[in-house]
Amino acid sequence: MAKVKNWQINREMEYPYDENRPKKQWAIVFDLNKCIACQTCSLACKTTWTSGKGQEYMFWNNVETKPYGSYPLAWDVKVLERLGHQEWEKKKPYYGKTIFEAAESNERAAHFAPEDKDWMYPNHGEDDCAGQVNKGDYISLQHDRWFFYLPRTCAHCTYPACLAACPRKAIYKRQEDGIVLIDQSRCKGYGECVKACPYKKSMYNAHTRISEKCIGCYPFVEQGYQPRCVTNCIGKIRIMGFINPPWKARSNNPVDYLVHKTGLALPYYPQLGLEPNIYYIPPIHADREYLTQMFGPNVDSAIETYRKLKDDPIAQGLLVLMGSTDRIIHDFNVKSGIAYAFDEKGDEIVHVPIKEQIFIRPAFDEKLGSSRNNTP
Ligand code: SF4
Ligand code: SF4
Ligand code: SF4
Repeated sequence: MAKVKNWQINREMEYPYDENRPKKQWAIVFDLNKCIACQTCSLACKTTWTSGKGQEYMFWNNVETKPYGSYPLAWDVKVLERLGHQEWEKKKPYYGKTIFEAAESNERAAHFAPEDKDWMYPNHGEDDCAGQVNKGDYISLQHDRWFFYLPRTCAHCTYPACLAACPRKAIYKRQEDGIVLIDQSRCKGYGECVKACPYKKSMYNAHTRISEKCIGCYPFVEQGYQPRCVTNCIGKIRIMGFINPPWKARSNNPVDYLVHKTGLALPYYPQLGLEPNIYYIPPIHADREYLTQMFGPNVDSAIETYRKLKDDPIAQGLLVLMGSTDRIIHDFNVKSGIAYAFDEKGDEIVHVPIKEQIFIRPAFDEKLGSSRNNTP
């Protein structure tokens, strides 16, 4: 195996292919404090891309309630069990093994295969903070009352396990935007990618007998637009853009600002070693140990920074730009309480006030000589 640099775990690691970073890397940031699990994102993706035969149980975008929800069932518990002991201190390299380093001699990545029925309950555990309880069991919670929603797409990983595991070399990562795609004409449906992807975001279509996955909405991205699951997000919790590695980070790039400059957004399960490119602003109310296992040792500082947002007008401006445009924001700035977004050419896409103005209209309108009330 080759040695490659993985900035998320702060060390070199083993990967079956040489390092080959794309010119641009697709990425989404999600603010988990704002997700309401409305599933609009799941349906936006489903109605656009997966409404065909064999795709009935396929959700390239899904939203699960953590800690008990999961799609497919128990994907995260099974992956972490295979990984074994994980040890990591803040500002230090990750000491444990990645899934590539923990692999047996006959596999490219430590993996497991979900059973068919595991894909059949995408809302399993929704809004459940105590696990699947029997009648009357609710009085003995296994932990404090908390849960949060985790929306997920393919992470278009820098070191994709799906790509590493494919014996047909049918999976490729595009240089122009870092999107990972399955070449449908080369795939023979062996399902090695389904087993190897630890996030379980490669899926088998039993009708066509080949594997499929989130395509990063590349036809929209190529035209300068954000993906469907991003632009349809009701909670305005998402922003898609292009992330640079930390040594090339630009502070006026929205994703770089949230991930590298402020440390507000963190990769999920970075210890798996794929450098996944979906990033999360962690929920401030959930259990810290659980969040640390999911997002790494920088959770506390991300939450501390989030709590101090009122002192950071730039980050505030960026958060109001989330969900304000369907175009991809390449640059942004904030001046005099207004956040501005720009496209790749530097032309303004949109500007948004950080605080909306409030207009109070009198109950009696002198000009019209009529009263106003809120009764329809
Ligand atoms: S549309 Fe947005 S708010 Fe609704 S579930 Fe999806 S990510 Fe959460
Ligand atoms: S999340 Fe899974 S399917 Fe997507 S690129 Fe990474 S390994 Fe491949
Ligand atoms: S990026 Fe596009 S293809 Fe991928 S989950 Fe979102 S809507 Fe679906």
